[in-house]
Amino acid sequence: MKIVLASKNKHKLEEISRITEKFGFELVLQSELGLDLDVEENGTTFEENSLIKAEAVMKATGLPALADDSGICVDALGGAPGIYSARYGFDESLDDWGRLQLLLKNMEAVPDGERAAKFVCVITMVTPDGKIIQARGEIHGQLLREARGENGFGYDPIFYYPPFGVTTAEMSAADKNKVSHRANALKIFNEKLKEAGYADK
Ligand code: IMP
Repeated sequence: MKIVLASKNKHKLEEISRITEKFGFELVLQSELGLDLDVEENGTTFEENSLIKAEAVMKATGLPALADDSGICVDALGGAPGIYSARYGFDESLDDWGRLQLLLKNMEAVPDGERAAKFVCVITMVTPDGKIIQARGEIHGQLLREARGENGFGYDPIFYYPPFGVTTAEMSAADKNKVSHRANALKIFNEKLKEAGYADK
């Protein structure tokens, strides 16, 4: 099945393609179709934002569109940065590393036993005939006090995953793809596609 992927984040595209290959999807990047769409993510949940992106790309291309919305939610900060993870601090001069440092700073006073965090990913597919299939995946861990590891992106270097004893930036891509929020969302998404009658490989 041919689907347009509504994303510009190369790391995410790589991770998603590696997983979706198994499911037999032919992913076409929106840039491959010459589509340069900047969708305003004005929802209040991961579910809403991912639906907003998928709908916009489906309408612009006439093809089924897949979008994800993801972020890190920290218990001690009431779930922040959450849907604002990519814009945390609302300071355009900050890059991924700057936002990671800001999160560490805002967590400085939080004791070790209270540093639970999770990555969340919601995948949404919207088809031209109006079907919506949505799945949420999570991975639970702890925020460290300093960065560890070179792999991954975003907040990976400070996200410690107890079952593996490493941060998600210390995991190989293959290991991260076994347990990540995105992998978990895609597994559920795949099941929902089957339930909806789509063929699986
Ligand atoms: P989105 O593009 O609106 O989904 O924003 C996602 C943001 O959440 C990214 O810019 C990262 O800061 C963060 N994020 C999401 N998934 C991951 C991950 O797997 N590792 C590290 N950071 C992530």
